[in-house]
Amino acid sequence: MARKRHREYLADIPQCGICSTTVYQHEKIIALCGNYNSTAHIALTEPFARYPLKDFDVYMRERYETSFADDNSPNHATSPEFCAMHLGCYQIVQQVGHVADEESLNRLWILTAWKNPWRGMERLRLSNDIIDDEVLEKTARFGGIPLLCSLPREIIHMIKRYSEDSVFWRCMMAIRLAAWISRTSPQPVRAMPLRSVFSWERNGELRRIEPLSPPLPVIKLTIDCEGIRKMERLPTRPQYSGRWSRPAKHLAYIVEDEASLEGVKVQLKDGRFRLKLPRQLRNVRLHVWNSPTPPNLSLCMVYPKKIMPIQRFNVVELSEIRGITFYLNTTVVLAMHIHLTEQESTLWTDKAVLEEKRPDAIFSEPIRVYLPLPKGDRITYLGANGSDDRLNVIFVRMEKAGDITIGQRQPGTGEDKVLAAQSSVSLVYCEPNKREMLPFFGAYQASPATLDVASRPIFAEIGANRMGRFTYYSWASLDGVSSVRIFYEDDFEFCRGLMFYYENGASRTVGDCRVQIDREATVDKPTQICFRTKVPESENGENGIGTVCKLRVEFEHHNGHDERWHCLPFRGIIRFWIAGGFSWLSVEQ
Ligand SMILES: [Zn+2]
Ligand SMILES: [Zn+2]
Repeated sequence: MARKRHREYLADIPQCGICSTTVYQHEKIIALCGNYNSTAHIALTEPFARYPLKDFDVYMRERYETSFADDNSPNHATSPEFCAMHLGCYQIVQQVGHVADEESLNRLWILTAWKNPWRGMERLRLSNDIIDDEVLEKTARFGGIPLLCSLPREIIHMIKRYSEDSVFWRCMMAIRLAAWISRTSPQPVRAMPLRSVFSWERNGELRRIEPLSPPLPVIKLTIDCEGIRKMERLPTRPQYSGRWSRPAKHLAYIVEDEASLEGVKVQLKDGRFRLKLPRQLRNVRLHVWNSPTPPNLSLCMVYPKKIMPIQRFNVVELSEIRGITFYLNTTVVLAMHIHLTEQESTLWTDKAVLEEKRPDAIFSEPIRVYLPLPKGDRITYLGANGSDDRLNVIFVRMEKAGDITIGQRQPGTGEDKVLAAQSSVSLVYCEPNKREMLPFFGAYQASPATLDVASRPIFAEIGANRMGRFTYYSWASLDGVSSVRIFYEDDFEFCRGLMFYYENGASRTVGDCRVQIDREATVDKPTQICFRTKVPESENGENGIGTVCKLRVEFEHHNGHDERWHCLPFRGIIRFWIAGGFSWLSVEQ
């Protein structure tokens, strides 16, 4: 029974309540334990390190449930909530904010645990763009780098983005929180039904519904890395306006009919606002969007067929982005990264995808398939295929680049599904929860084109090019290429993938292209392609699946190319295969 209750609150790798960055397994942690209704703390754990790689909240309950009991709990049935903090962050708050007594620990509880908009919500990991001048100056002086403050604000933000996990920024957030605690005085906890609240804003006012208030049945919540920032009411659900922000940027939104939030309570304390969901809503995840005007889900064409309990939705205007990286384990699409610019790295998505090794992944590292979306080309058709709960393959038709197949059809999955055709397409997808694959992928079109079955594009079965069930196959034309971008392994010897830029403005990729992560080189107007496979000397040749075999590709012929090389003029069709440790290609002329 107890185990079942725990599963209601599946959480992931903990985030520090103070600085909001990840608490890595090797780091020293201290945690606050909340009371039965999460409005105060009842205990502080001793510092510890090395939590086992399993659900952190479950681990904490197993370890502490019997020692921390809230005697005020009405039925002793609620398991406590925990909030993890880096020990270093906690020590700064303790010293700078003089946080040690019970009351200040209660205030620390509100400022940290209530960053989660309600208990049990999957952590949103919104980016933290807070830079407070006074606190920055103090931290920079303390850290011995006072000149940092004289840099332009955009540069400081950029440095922060690339070094988010560093002690410096953690320190800054801890000092900021401590300063807030010493500057303000505590307020009592207030609780009321959500239906009685008209509006609320952090550092602003709470307005209650009054007898003459107009009926506004739609509730909109704005969330940032500190928790709920604003609650307001709207007369109707807004129409999708094309406004969206980068997934996991600093703001997220919930727009729901009040009727679906029946029984939800609001808790307020110290300028913070949190929802308390009734038991029946705890397993119904509310939809969190990257747009203040989310599209109507019932008008979206999506895959897989079975909708999982998901809460984090993103909408993206395909005409405003320059590419998408899909993470495949060859048979299943695991995750995706949106490139706002062509030069944008997948570093942060990589971190999220690789941080949690998926138990069902066949290969230790997924293949990254880069779909370039250059300004001069556009998607005219989007389709998909898979089973009830997984997406195996995505079909993309580009006006100039032609047909692109990402993934592989699996046996017994039935007909391909049309997601969007013709008019402008907004992509809708969900970020995978812990250890899941891409749970939701589809498209929204304000005025969907009607497409009769006969005119639906047919994406050929790869047939003779199939090299086994777990191989990723891709192809591109070598005709009309203006330049080729080569993605290398670390040593510049072996090629992981290639990207072709065509004279008509189109682009295509083959292989595994890790944009702005792999070493790269560009060759203009290639006339020759020479390639061979090679077993790398650095490895013993085996990776548990078979012999490792890598590719060398060059775009200039020279005398060193012996009979093991294939040396051909640059034209025809290039075919490229990858499977756990093997890559090989062929050129058809
Ligand atoms: Zn921290
Ligand atoms: Zn050659």
